[in-house]
Amino acid sequence: MSLKAVVLGCGNSSGVPGIGNHWGHCDPKEPKNRRGRSSLAVVSQATTIVVDTGPDFREQFNRENLSSPDAVFYSHAHGDHCHGIDDLRSFYFRGSQKPLPVYANAQTFEDLQSRFRYLFEGGNNEFFYPPVLEAREFKDSDFGKEHRIGDISFVPFLVDHGSCVCTGYRFGDLAYTVDMKALDDQALDILKGVKTWIADAAAYTMQNNAVHANIEDIIVYHKTIKADAVYLSSLTSLMDYQSLIRELPEGFAPAYDGLQIEIG
Ligand SMILES: [Zn+2]
Repeated sequence: MSLKAVVLGCGNSSGVPGIGNHWGHCDPKEPKNRRGRSSLAVVSQATTIVVDTGPDFREQFNRENLSSPDAVFYSHAHGDHCHGIDDLRSFYFRGSQKPLPVYANAQTFEDLQSRFRYLFEGGNNEFFYPPVLEAREFKDSDFGKEHRIGDISFVPFLVDHGSCVCTGYRFGDLAYTVDMKALDDQALDILKGVKTWIADAAAYTMQNNAVHANIEDIIVYHKTIKADAVYLSSLTSLMDYQSLIRELPEGFAPAYDGLQIEIG
């Protein structure tokens, strides 16, 4: 079975360039510096799963010409990871008119369902606002266990994001931990042995960031995880693509929008 991950977006909450064409330290002439908000698609021949739907989701999804998703996973409910959720309505109206399954942890659903209640329960106009999403909450016993949607297997696990608890996902030999401040032993156990690790590195050289990991944290975790390739994500306008390529140790690289990775 051929399975691949597509990085739909690898930018931090502002994206690069930020609004007002704010490129920061990033070279505007380098195409890989143009970053939408973080999102990942995992695609087999039969199944498509999307992790997060940020504000750039519609254009990212169209750019990659993806098929309608079979499920949407959320890492957490910060706006840069979910404020494109309204675009999922189109899959309902143009597709089977069945609610699309959405997976997340309890804290994430609490936020999503209070902010976007009409998508899950329907709005005051049944014709225009039927329930288009079906919440499938991960219970405590679901974390660390393998689940399957269509022909794609995955393992959800908890990731500390400082201000909230995120869900990380392992798909075969690829793991995705966005957003991430710290990993506990349970998460490290699940990550151990992956070939590819995509990690939030928004703090990069910053010390004492309350919600994001920096490169020193990631290098320490990598000593346990030992992935063949580590891709940094949640990249800010301070993180120029070519500078990162020069600075990072062997086996590490910045992600870029449109990056495709084969999953074993
Ligand atoms: Zn976040």
